[in-house]
Amino acid sequence: MNLGIVGGGPAGLMAAETATKAPLGTDLSITLFEGKPSVGRKFLVAGHGGLNLTHSDSLDRFEERYHGSFKSGYWTSLLKDFSNEDARAWASGLGIETFIGTSGRVFPKEFKAAPLLRRWVQRIKNQGVRVEARHDLQKITQKDARIELEFSTPEGMITNSFDAVIFALGGASWPETGSNAQWVPLFQQLGISVAPFQAANCGWETHWHPDIIPLVAGEPLKNIAVTAGNITIHGELMITAYGVEGGAIYQLGHSLRSMAHPLLFIDLKPTFSSEELVQKISSYSGDFINSAKKVWRLGNAAHALLSTLAPPETRDDPHALASFAKRLPIPLTAPRPIAEAISSAGGVSFEELNEDLMLKNHPGLFVAGEMIDWEAPTGGYLLQGCLTTGSRAALGSLRYLNSDPRSISTDTLCV
Ligand SMILES: Cc1cc2nc3c(=O)[nH]c(=O)nc-3n(C[C@H](O)[C@H](O)[C@H](O)COP(=O)(O)OP(=O)(O)OC[C@H]3O[C@@H](n4cnc5c(N)ncnc54)[C@H](O)[C@@H]3O)c2cc1C
Repeated sequence: MNLGIVGGGPAGLMAAETATKAPLGTDLSITLFEGKPSVGRKFLVAGHGGLNLTHSDSLDRFEERYHGSFKSGYWTSLLKDFSNEDARAWASGLGIETFIGTSGRVFPKEFKAAPLLRRWVQRIKNQGVRVEARHDLQKITQKDARIELEFSTPEGMITNSFDAVIFALGGASWPETGSNAQWVPLFQQLGISVAPFQAANCGWETHWHPDIIPLVAGEPLKNIAVTAGNITIHGELMITAYGVEGGAIYQLGHSLRSMAHPLLFIDLKPTFSSEELVQKISSYSGDFINSAKKVWRLGNAAHALLSTLAPPETRDDPHALASFAKRLPIPLTAPRPIAEAISSAGGVSFEELNEDLMLKNHPGLFVAGEMIDWEAPTGGYLLQGCLTTGSRAALGSLRYLNSDPRSISTDTLCV
């Protein structure tokens, strides 16, 4: 029997590796196809930031990090197949030891992706997976129980036939790594619903007051809290010429995208109440905005925001100034372009899938990774989600290939 895997990112590589481990009654030939000259290009890009492989959250906390139209408990069931602990053990099995950082994030001790990727690909090949690079998927045809894939290659068009296929074609950010979403029309031609891609984990744009950029562009706002809707995140933001960047805003993307007029509130002093701030500053005389820098220990960027954006009446009203500093409004205009986002929301809808991530109306066709319509914040949840869905799709494809007659579960997966 032939299993095809298309897409050589972390989801596709994990699918290939998982498929080699589970014994099948008959021989299984596994081929992984990748459009680019080499696999794992976005994984290597993730390595530039130290490769936050997963997070040390407990499993129930983990599920809360994922947004999508899957039913409650589904993500936990995926993580039981391949959890954050499994991810650490898997990396260790490749000779890459990991550690838990102060924020609970898990990193390889070397903070690098290349050694892990090199060993991973070698192990997959040693386990018998054929890896075919420069194979760009152009067409999917399903005839009875056979699936035909057409690829453009340097030698011209070629067609291969499979009993089951796992697609792990990625999302739509950083298209130069190969995740260019050009697969979307191929899936739509099969009648599969694909939610439009949107930038997730990205910076947002705003029209800054003209005085702010010359003063503090490129400077961080540290130890702040940011709120969008009913979600508040403690962390850091970077002021940029176009708006704001940084971990805190990445985590609010889901909430901001749901607003007709996205509005961010910054608390410049989250560890003090308004009353405490008033108490600290009341004894000072003169312009309270000037005094605030020293008395409230504001950094350059925080003070620049306060002095340019606070209404004039706050200069001599400590109560109004403290309230403003605790809830400084920044109207946002748009997310940054998807090409520069860390990840994307959108993709194959959960309503198309069964619990094994098989397309309900296309038995034998499975999907994994960021090409499915889920999203998660940075913190290791993205790679964990890709490894986890890659593992489930592979186990599902083996269940499908082993079933006689080949049957599919159409249990509902979405809310
Ligand atoms: C700057 C940056 C930093 C990041 N840092 C982290 C981090 O520290 N931690 C974390 O958890 N996540 C991080 N991520 C996100 C993480 O890298 C992605 O979520 C993950 O790579 C997605 O895996 P995937 O296998 O689903 O897709 P991808 O990695 O995008 O792989 C998809 C593959 O499919 C191939 N492909 C696409 N179309 C075709 C086709 N038609 N034919 C053949 N092949 C095709 C592509 O070439 C690609 O190799 C980061 C992302 C970026 C951009």
